[in-house]
Amino acid sequence: MAEKSNRAPEFDQRTPIPESCQAPNSKIDRRGFFRGGAMLTISGLSATAGLAQTNGPRDSATEAEPADASEQLEAQTQRARRWAGRDPADWVRARTGVDHNVVIVGGGQSGTAIAYGLKRKGVGHVEVIDQAEPGQAGIWRTIARMHQLRTPKTLAGLEQDNPMLSFRAWYETLNGPDAFDSLDRIPRLAWADYLDWFQQVTGIAVRYRTRLLEIEPQGDLLRLHLESEGVRRVETTRKLVLANGYASAGGPNVPGFLRALPSDAWTHTASPIRFDALAGKVVGVVGAGSSAFDAAAVALESGAAEVHMFNRRAYVDYPRPPSQTSAPSDRGHSNVREMTYELPDTVRWRNFLLRDRRVASVPSDSIQRVMAFEGFRLHLESSLSDVALADGKVVARVAGDTRRFDHVIAGTGYRIDLATQPELAGIHESIALWGDRYRPETGEDSAAGSIHPYLGAGFQFLPREVTGADYLRNIHCFNLSASLSFGKPVGDIPSAADHPRLVSAIARDLYVESVDTAAHQRFINAPVVPPDPAPYQRAIQRPAREAA
Ligand SMILES: Cc1cc2nc3c(=O)[nH]c(=O)nc-3n(C[C@H](O)[C@H](O)[C@H](O)COP(=O)(O)OP(=O)(O)OC[C@H]3O[C@@H](n4cnc5c(N)ncnc54)[C@H](O)[C@@H]3O)c2cc1C
Repeated sequence: MAEKSNRAPEFDQRTPIPESCQAPNSKIDRRGFFRGGAMLTISGLSATAGLAQTNGPRDSATEAEPADASEQLEAQTQRARRWAGRDPADWVRARTGVDHNVVIVGGGQSGTAIAYGLKRKGVGHVEVIDQAEPGQAGIWRTIARMHQLRTPKTLAGLEQDNPMLSFRAWYETLNGPDAFDSLDRIPRLAWADYLDWFQQVTGIAVRYRTRLLEIEPQGDLLRLHLESEGVRRVETTRKLVLANGYASAGGPNVPGFLRALPSDAWTHTASPIRFDALAGKVVGVVGAGSSAFDAAAVALESGAAEVHMFNRRAYVDYPRPPSQTSAPSDRGHSNVREMTYELPDTVRWRNFLLRDRRVASVPSDSIQRVMAFEGFRLHLESSLSDVALADGKVVARVAGDTRRFDHVIAGTGYRIDLATQPELAGIHESIALWGDRYRPETGEDSAAGSIHPYLGAGFQFLPREVTGADYLRNIHCFNLSASLSFGKPVGDIPSAADHPRLVSAIARDLYVESVDTAAHQRFINAPVVPPDPAPYQRAIQRPAREAA
């Protein structure tokens, strides 16, 4: 990264991009490594397979030769394949005239891992679609702008109890255990490469450039209106999984004063931003969450002369040692994450209120990244008003001053509102919401919370009315709008703990539906035909009475 003239000198030494934040094996061809290991496709991996012993320990990433690391990953993958055995055969009884058993919308980390879980359960005819170009699904190479993930490196992830499929196994095999130990958190691009590897070794195919436009019920089936490379078509499915990401439960949250401006005057952090066009410019950033800080950092690193960040609150929170205020004892146990759905409604509701009311903390390195630049300005307890476009600039009043920006970036998060999600246009009114099922205690009302879907234990939508719209139980919602029902953000790495629950729910419904009662009846009533007794004939001793 070239040094910019507005970089604060005192930060030059303190905040270089840490080596641990660079993608792994940055001294060598990282993608070549990954490809070498990904040439194999594992037919299946058991939940109990352990991490294979490699050809001896390596001290650090720098000691690993590309070929060695690639060969080790390949050898380890082959071993995993041998130990795990084949994927179970598809046991789901076909239903005539239906194209798919399951369609998963989204080929990001959630969709891929859920597809793998279904494969290992023996659920066949699963189709994963994604509107993105190949290699562009998910957020990690597009709109995520931090150097490292925000979550701890040791979290369990997509591996579904199989450590050979974990980020750690992949990373250590390529880079050595010391390299993993010395990571602060997972480098973002390493995570993106790992996801590519995970998809390839688990053999999950994604139909790219294919967008879900509309869901139309037909009895208990779903007719999916798709657009694929400009061509529209309808395909039917018994089950649908919405693993379509943070922006697909109501879209990015854009303040009204920005929406009113021409679209080239502002960008939300959820979209690609033309940072090169911001060189030498004055940029306003609305919001002070992690994504706002990351966008501000890239703008400054791209040569923006000034970046002004506006925060309604009086402070920016960042990770600190636990406070004296004791949190409820059931919060924060990392290995019972899949149980948060079981909490009473009141507790799940209050967890939501907590997330809604408290300031989410920003990783310290994201703060340091912008603080490295003289041109960064943080305006606390400030918001923009009287916003207009004049002479090509965005002009706004802020705390009594008039300010002009060449471009404004909205780091204002995401909305949850199914009514505004295009593919749900025809069905959202039938979906049960928290406002339909839960009455908050006095003083705990939340209009935002009341429009979250009230989901069933398998992430399925529930019908608003007692009768009708039963097809909703076949739509499983694994995106941000599931967060209230599941007591945590859904889609992020910690929520992978709930993949098995979703997979089991889908498998259960198909299993029960697959039961062939007539075949059971034929089977139970069929005469029992004894086998030829030849293998034990000589030892048969008949009662004396019978022998005589
Ligand atoms: C900026 C940012 C940083 C984050 N950092 C972290 C972090 O550090 N740690 C963490 O645990 N979590 C983090 N998260 C949360 C979460 O991990 C990510 O959002 C992650 O990408 C979620 O994965 P996903 O597969 O559920 O959704 P996505 O990765 O968003 O994938 C959804 C896919 O669905 C496709 N899609 C959407 N709509 C349609 C449609 N109609 N038809 C077809 N395809 C469609 C999209 O093209 C996309 O590829 C972050 C989120 C954001 C936004």
